[in-house]
Amino acid sequence: MVHAHAVRKHFGHLEVLKGIDLDVQAGEVVVILGPSGSGKSTFLRCVNHLEAIDGGSIFVDGELIGFQESGGKVRHLRKSEITRQRREIGMVFQQFNLFPHFTVLQNVMEAPVGVRREPRGQARERALGLLRRVGLEDKAGSYPRQLSGGQQQRVAIARALAMRPKLMLFDEPTSALDPELVGEVLATMKGLAEDGLTMIVVTHEIGFAREVADRVVFMDGGVVVESGTPKEVLDNPTSPRTKAFLSRVL
Ligand code: ATP
Ligand code: MG
Repeated sequence: MVHAHAVRKHFGHLEVLKGIDLDVQAGEVVVILGPSGSGKSTFLRCVNHLEAIDGGSIFVDGELIGFQESGGKVRHLRKSEITRQRREIGMVFQQFNLFPHFTVLQNVMEAPVGVRREPRGQARERALGLLRRVGLEDKAGSYPRQLSGGQQQRVAIARALAMRPKLMLFDEPTSALDPELVGEVLATMKGLAEDGLTMIVVTHEIGFAREVADRVVFMDGGVVVESGTPKEVLDNPTSPRTKAFLSRVL
């Protein structure tokens, strides 16, 4: 589903991604771990072309992201094409960014109706189904400010799912939450994984990585230092950098 090869990205003189390779099969959950500043968010942002890469390539479901090759040359895609590609990739951030003046149901329906031109009745039924899936059907008529942080993040997840993404990217979805609210969001994500959604998750929640990830990738300094099964990377890391990081977070 995702095939990233030799991905490079710099900001000015700072080389943030120094040749990242990552493959994610359909239905797989990959957790990315790594210290602050290692390039995790930048990499996720490259996958849906919120950042344009400087080298290498990223394919999602067989399609080159952000660029097209023609006559041996690589060109940027048109904006409308990038928008189309992005629609199929859901993203959930640390900050939920719900529309405050919309109800929960309206937040989830907004993109299917506004962007995909889905008939309202159908979008509404589907939105209610998604709210059920994240355990919030009874909050459909509430406004974001009336919800806890964990509930708001679950609405954000339902809203991303409403676009029927092929791939979901999560960037530290629980790190802005009070500790007692983290579990409900992780449980929701575990449910999605069990339903076969393809996910790349940046998180410091080692328990989630152990339980849910098919593969764990440890990034440091803009490179993938180590990757493997949760057992391999978390219990028997081979790199001293991975060991040092794990000893700090575990
Ligand atoms: P954290 O765990 O703190 O979220 P991260 O692994 O997600 O860290 P990134 O956010 O990808 O790290 O940042 C990697 C590096 O790139 C950092 O040094 C950061 O300051 C730099 N960086 C990120 N975005 C930009 C930008 N738009 N302009 C300039 N530098 C940036
Ligand atoms: Mg980050």
